[in-house]
Amino acid sequence: MKSGRTTLSKFVIENTRDQRADLGALLIDVAAAIKTISGMVAKGALGGNLGAIDSTNIQGEVQKKLDVLTNEAMLHHCEWGGQLAGMASEEMDEPYAIPADYPKGRYLLIFDPLDGSSNSDVNVSVGTIFSVITKEGKDDTGMQDYLQPGQRQVAAGYAIYGPSTMLVLTVGSGTHGFTLDRDSGNFILTHPDIRVPEETREFAINTSNERFWEPPVQRYISECRAGKTGIRGTDFNMRWIASFVAEVHRILIRGGIFMYPKDNKDPSKPGRLRLLYEANPMAMIIEQAGGLASTGRERIQSIHPDQLHQRVPVILGSRQEVERLEKYHQEADAGLDKSYVSPLFSSRSIFRD
Ligand code: MN
Ligand code: MN
Repeated sequence: MKSGRTTLSKFVIENTRDQRADLGALLIDVAAAIKTISGMVAKGALGGNLGAIDSTNIQGEVQKKLDVLTNEAMLHHCEWGGQLAGMASEEMDEPYAIPADYPKGRYLLIFDPLDGSSNSDVNVSVGTIFSVITKEGKDDTGMQDYLQPGQRQVAAGYAIYGPSTMLVLTVGSGTHGFTLDRDSGNFILTHPDIRVPEETREFAINTSNERFWEPPVQRYISECRAGKTGIRGTDFNMRWIASFVAEVHRILIRGGIFMYPKDNKDPSKPGRLRLLYEANPMAMIIEQAGGLASTGRERIQSIHPDQLHQRVPVILGSRQEVERLEKYHQEADAGLDKSYVSPLFSSRSIFRD
C-alpha cells in the first residue's frame, strides 16, 4: 500500500505542471508552515504558548501568543522562495512586504494563521486558512493588489489541527484532503475529490445572537427547529463548535449548513467573518466540493473587496440548504414573505429597522 500513497508534494507538482510550478512550490512552503504550526499547537500547555499577550490586532481582538507565533511561522516559511509579491494576514494591520534580499514572484498569500485561537486554551480544534491570488501588473505591490474578488483565487485551503492534522486544498480542480503522517512527516492524500452531501439535517449557528438576526434567518432556523412537526417534515440537529475551520471541515465531510449571518448587533460590522482570509478561501473550498457559499444575497466569491480586513455575512455548505436560505432572503427583500409569521420574533421587531 505504502508505495501507492500520494504525498502532498507529488499532488501539487502534478497539478501545477501547467505553467504554475511556482504555485506548487509555494504550496509546499505553506504545507511546511502548517507542519510547524501543528507542532506548536500540539504542545499545548507544555509549549508555554497558551494565553493572551498584552496587545490587540487591527480587529480589536486580544492577541494570543499563538496568534503571533503562528503568524511568524507563516511569514518565515513562505517569504524566501521567490513565488510571492507579498503577504497579508489577520494578525497584521498592513500587508507584509517581502524582504529586499529575497526574490519576488507573482502571487499574494493571504491567511488567518490560527483560526479559532480563542479555543486553543480549551483544547478544541483550531486551524489555519489561506488564499492565493495573482498580483496584476508589474508595479510595486500595494493594498489595491490584495482587493480582488474570491473568484480570482488560484488556490485556497485550510489546515485543521484536531485529533489528526489535515490539510484541505484546492487549486481549482476539486477539493482534496491530506492527513499528516507524523511518522514520515508527509501529508498523504486520504480524501481525494471531497463532495459536500447535497442534503443535510444539520445546521450550525450561534443562537445566542438570535434576537439580532434578520427575518429570513429567523424563518429558516425556526423551520429547522420545528422539525417533523413543521414544514420541513424532518428533524434537524444543531452543531456549534465556534471554530470556523472545524465547522467547515465537518460540513465538507458529512454535509450541513454553517451560518454567521448579517445581524443588527453592531451596525458597523456587516458580519463576523473576514472576507479575504476566512470567507473567500472557505467559499472556494466548499464550491469546489459542490457546495455553495453566499451572504444570503450574493455569492461570496463575487464580492469586490474594499478593505483588507472587511467582514461579510457567511452562509455556506450543502447546496440545497444554502439555496433555500437565499430564496428566503429574496422573498423577504421583495416583501413576498407575507405568509410567514415567525414565533421567534415579535411583530414589533418586524417593523423596527
Ligand atoms: Mn479566524
Ligand atoms: Mn486567527
